[in-house]
Amino acid sequence: MNRIRPLLAALLLATALLAAGCGKEGSPPAKGPRADRLPDYRVATGFRLAGSPTWRKAKARGRLLVGVKEDQPYLGEKDPSSGVYSGFDIEIAKMIAAGLGFAPRQISFRTIASANRETSLQNGQIDYYVGTYTINDNRKKLVGFAGPYYLAGQGLLVRSDEHDIKGPADLDGKRVCSAAGSTPYQRIQADYPKADLVSYDTYSICVDNLLTYQVDAVTTDDSILLGYAAKVPDELKVVGRPFSKEPYGVGLPRGDTALRFAVDDVLAAGERDGTWKKAYEATLGLSGVPAPKPPAIDRYPAG
Ligand code: GLU
Repeated sequence: MNRIRPLLAALLLATALLAAGCGKEGSPPAKGPRADRLPDYRVATGFRLAGSPTWRKAKARGRLLVGVKEDQPYLGEKDPSSGVYSGFDIEIAKMIAAGLGFAPRQISFRTIASANRETSLQNGQIDYYVGTYTINDNRKKLVGFAGPYYLAGQGLLVRSDEHDIKGPADLDGKRVCSAAGSTPYQRIQADYPKADLVSYDTYSICVDNLLTYQVDAVTTDDSILLGYAAKVPDELKVVGRPFSKEPYGVGLPRGDTALRFAVDDVLAAGERDGTWKKAYEATLGLSGVPAPKPPAIDRYPAG
């Protein structure tokens, strides 16, 4: 039983992820994002942002380079066969692009792991980043943040047959997995030093390790964990209450305040006119949480 079950679990996840990835138009997966429910973004015509070096470079290139995740269900997911990205973060990225005068087909998405976000923004590899990216003061020394556009909280994902772990206080001596360079990783390291913490580049690798009994829990934002649990509800469950505040921002090159304020404006307009809610309901809402009120945008001063 114990030798077969992990294999079965891994197979199940692979099948579930494959099924979700196969959601092309016309054959949406049972619980995958529904293309026909997504908002249409009106591309701003004649928009100019001369004060933003990032925008000017993108305009000259004719494309926006946007950093995202590719393995976070309902947030940022890449269909392995078509290469198409979908999810709430992807919709936020498209909404912003449209507000800046770029059509969805003018976006090149680049998958960038948590640990590489700051450097990719600093070296100009991407124009902006939308991927469950928590705003905090340390990161603000390195990059700029528009938003927040969503508020998550750290949680724990365990196997359905796990009964000892109900919150972070139960992690002593347990193998806990998170992504390198993430705030959940840092929080466990600082506040729960008796946990046996391991890191990988991505949460999906952690989830594979959980299903194959290599680790006892995966920790990151509840929004991300609920997506994995929804894919294999018989095998995985999210436990306890969120134990942090993770306000999601749009990562930007640090000095580009003109771009930051422009992105804040696009987010505010989308929240006002119902586009944000529509995008949420067609994506992240599918993991079972009704649309919350978006957090207040923090238009912090330049400097
Ligand atoms: N929101 C957290 C962070 O930015 C965890 C999710 C992630 O790694 O993207 O570190």
